[in-house]
Amino acid sequence: TSNTTDSSIAGEAPPPSGELEDDNVVYFIKKKLNVWCRQPKGKWELGTIQSTSGDETSVSLSNGNVMTVARSEILPANPDILEGVEDLIQLSYLNEPSVLHNLQFRYSQDLIYSKAGPVLIAVNPFKDVQIYGNDYVSAYRQKTIDNPHVYAMADAAYNEMMKDEVNQSIIISGESGSGKTETAKIAMQYLAALGGGSCGIENEVLQTNFILEAFGNAKTSRNDNSSRFGKLIEIHFSAMGKICGAKIQTCKNVQSRVVQLASGERSYHIFYQLCAGSSSDLKERLKLRAASEYNYLNQSDCMTINGVNDAKKFYRLMKALDVIKMSKEEREVVFKMLAAILWLGNISFEITDNENHVEVVNDEALTSTASLMGCGSEELMEALSTCKIQAGKDTITKPVTLVQAIDGRDALAKFIYASLFDWLVDQVNMSLEVGKRRTGRSISILDIYGFESFQKNSFEQFCINYANERLQQHFNRHLFKLEQEDYELDGVDWTKVEFEDNQECLDLFEKKPLGLISLLDEESNFPRASDLTLANKLKQHLHTNPCFKDERGRAFGVRHYAGEVVYETAGFLEKNRDPLPSDSIQLLSSCSCELLQSFSKMLNHSPKHSNSPFGGALDSQKQSVAMKFKGQLFKLMHQLESTTPHFIRCIKANAKQLPGMYDEDIVLQQLKCCGVLEVVRISRAGYPTRMTHLEFSGRYGFLLTEANTSQDPLSISVAVLQQFNIPPEMYQVGFTKLFLRTGQIGALEDRRKQF
Ligand code: ATP
Ligand code: MG
Repeated sequence: TSNTTDSSIAGEAPPPSGELEDDNVVYFIKKKLNVWCRQPKGKWELGTIQSTSGDETSVSLSNGNVMTVARSEILPANPDILEGVEDLIQLSYLNEPSVLHNLQFRYSQDLIYSKAGPVLIAVNPFKDVQIYGNDYVSAYRQKTIDNPHVYAMADAAYNEMMKDEVNQSIIISGESGSGKTETAKIAMQYLAALGGGSCGIENEVLQTNFILEAFGNAKTSRNDNSSRFGKLIEIHFSAMGKICGAKIQTCKNVQSRVVQLASGERSYHIFYQLCAGSSSDLKERLKLRAASEYNYLNQSDCMTINGVNDAKKFYRLMKALDVIKMSKEEREVVFKMLAAILWLGNISFEITDNENHVEVVNDEALTSTASLMGCGSEELMEALSTCKIQAGKDTITKPVTLVQAIDGRDALAKFIYASLFDWLVDQVNMSLEVGKRRTGRSISILDIYGFESFQKNSFEQFCINYANERLQQHFNRHLFKLEQEDYELDGVDWTKVEFEDNQECLDLFEKKPLGLISLLDEESNFPRASDLTLANKLKQHLHTNPCFKDERGRAFGVRHYAGEVVYETAGFLEKNRDPLPSDSIQLLSSCSCELLQSFSKMLNHSPKHSNSPFGGALDSQKQSVAMKFKGQLFKLMHQLESTTPHFIRCIKANAKQLPGMYDEDIVLQQLKCCGVLEVVRISRAGYPTRMTHLEFSGRYGFLLTEANTSQDPLSISVAVLQQFNIPPEMYQVGFTKLFLRTGQIGALEDRRKQF
């Protein structure tokens, strides 16, 4: 190998592998080079090797201690000159402690962005860092600053879109609380600023964030402002390169948060904002009380968020609704629906016989809900406490049990909220569709929940992790397969680099008829199916798939790209069917509130198809939740596939949402999940700079001192390479392109600038 690459600043240092090889130990001792030494608790400490005998190595640590450890516990550290490099590709040694240390070193200086080859890594600072705003926008636009930044990435996407007329996408992923939504907003701000600033359509696009966050985000145990939906915003540009419109697509699964909260968590922000911020007039019209008086909100011990003023947020939301020009009447309806949901949760039932059948308690909750929904109290009572069963030609009305009544009430609340959210997204989209002179140019920004693995994982995690598996494939395909194909297509020798492909895992989810989703749907169609029959069915059909793992009882495991997850089937069938009692559907269609009527029409199954109060099985016409989710996901992926992607991986430095705290285990876990280390290896192993012969000869051909008689770009290119003594191992000549190793273009660019 040659030592002229940028990454071999260590001079005569051994090849840049992650390991400390036998013959290097002596070298490390002689030169007193730093090594990483694994401590008993797993943390890595810096030190130097003093001596070595057999497999044992004695290391003097930087804290003064001397340790004797096995060779396998020692890894080479990078020379000081590489401390805190911008791109992990530049590191001589790419082992885990080196990468962790490099990110930590930068993080401690508030350098929260780094690159891993083409990928931008953003480590959440959990505090304000002074690197945003108009001055920085101009600096990145004019390239007076060129360190890694979301602005730089947005700028690259923008330039590529304008130059190549190819649509672009910025794909942001990471765990909950890692900073995806903030990063998406920062990218949007940059693109909006290019359009001239904070008025007109650019501003409108930015304002949508306040609306979607109020209705789609909530405080969870991991993030005070956690997005409970995935979002793709496609920003349209005019031929002049100004924002001229946008379209939002969302992707969400069950909305149980409306009716059920875990301790320390809240429901969607909007409920608290409405209770805290509405005027007394509005309160009266909505029969609204304090948030603490509603069962759907007060069941958790958490009503407020530190440092957040819900009333102010409500005010901010109203301004955003002004910007998208939502009318007073429409707002009033939205608020009525929210208040109706809150009052629904306060409706209670009384057991009337020894079979647990119930009647609705006729109280303020009932009358308020009915008046807000625009129906009679009697009708609401009947819908919530009875069910109609088709017996031949007759319809029999039967009372329901307490459990059924509560489930039915909650299902109605969830349905109204979910429909309201979709309706709101439609309103926002209509308002953003003002760009009539669309050029077809766009940049899409994807902000979608990351991989989740908890102690207990249910249907929600099942959907989220499935989506992440798809995104991971997109990432892999793009970075690895395309990379490889590019070399091979151009006839260039490419030593295949191993990489993870997750097709097998996707097959496990998607195969028909024997995949997780198909089998779940099939089982959801059996009224008598249970958690156990579902678990057994999955095991029976899928145990041969290498990504499926048999677990005891009602659980099953999936080997995801990011690790193994055990799912409990409890609640899977219910959540997948997400049934709305037929009587409720009928009720909605009879309400005087037009919005509710329109919601009921969106359900394309009519009441008569369902003969059990809760649609005990999936209705033949109703799509299951998993299917719907898959459909949304496919639409999203389809749109991304026609774009040039730019990837941002968000990382949280600790699980406590605190600034200045860097937890190595947590960071490492995330780096592994998103394949950052592999990306670095591949990018460096290969020839990252690629130019067509035409581009290359056009750019550097004039530097040739001897007139080249040939006009053909390939021979001009080769002549340039020879004149500048670029060593043959530093480049490969393909059929159409020149492939250059890292750092080779620098000298040529310098010469070019001198002219
Ligand atoms: P979820 O998946 O739960 O929606 P997320 O990845 O979208 O999580 P964010 O809501 O973007 O996470 O970030 C969580 C919090 O981290 C923010 O509310 C903010 O306090 C902080 N944060 C994230 N990015 C930045 C940043 N660039 N500068 C300052 N603070 C940040
Ligand atoms: Mg978010």
